Amino acid sequence: MNNGKSILGDPEARRFLTELVDEEGLDVVYALLGREATDEELAEETGMKINTVRRVLYKLYDYRLASYVRTRDAEIGWYTYTWKLELERVYELIRQRKQRLLEALSKELDAIQGRVFFACSKDERYVPFEEAAELEFRCPECGSALEHVDAEERVQRLQREIQRLERELSVAADAHC
Ligand SMILES: [Zn+2]
Repeated sequence: MNNGKSILGDPEARRFLTELVDEEGLDVVYALLGREATDEELAEETGMKINTVRRVLYKLYDYRLASYVRTRDAEIGWYTYTWKLELERVYELIRQRKQRLLEALSKELDAIQGRVFFACSKDERYVPFEEAAELEFRCPECGSALEHVDAEERVQRLQREIQRLERELSVAADAHC
């Protein structure tokens, strides 16, 4: 099983986490690596404001990349939150994101493949043939002529991107399951 350090050494996982909690938040992740700690301890060690540390922790918690145990101090009655990382989940989150992107691109490909498009040369408004015909090949925005566009380049780009995602998803399934 992956430990946190090797996960942070993986550029893709690191990029995902950085997008989620920013570079600053990554300091909290590093401080919590391979152990358990309270939010107060993490704030003290990182020199960050307690609210910032908590925001990072709750963001991680939202994505189930961290979990906490709540305990109550019997004497003063306060709750203490002891946190730990669940970083292995990052691979599942990356997979889900790629899966969603793959679905969106496949949908777009279906929508444009084999269809004829027209576009306004001035504002680059894109309209399918049926709509262009209804508009009598005039741009609804500016009235300029709508011209035939070749969607082949876009189709090819989508196909390449879809293939790349499919390949990455199958490699990821082998590596992390
Ligand atoms: Zn126009």
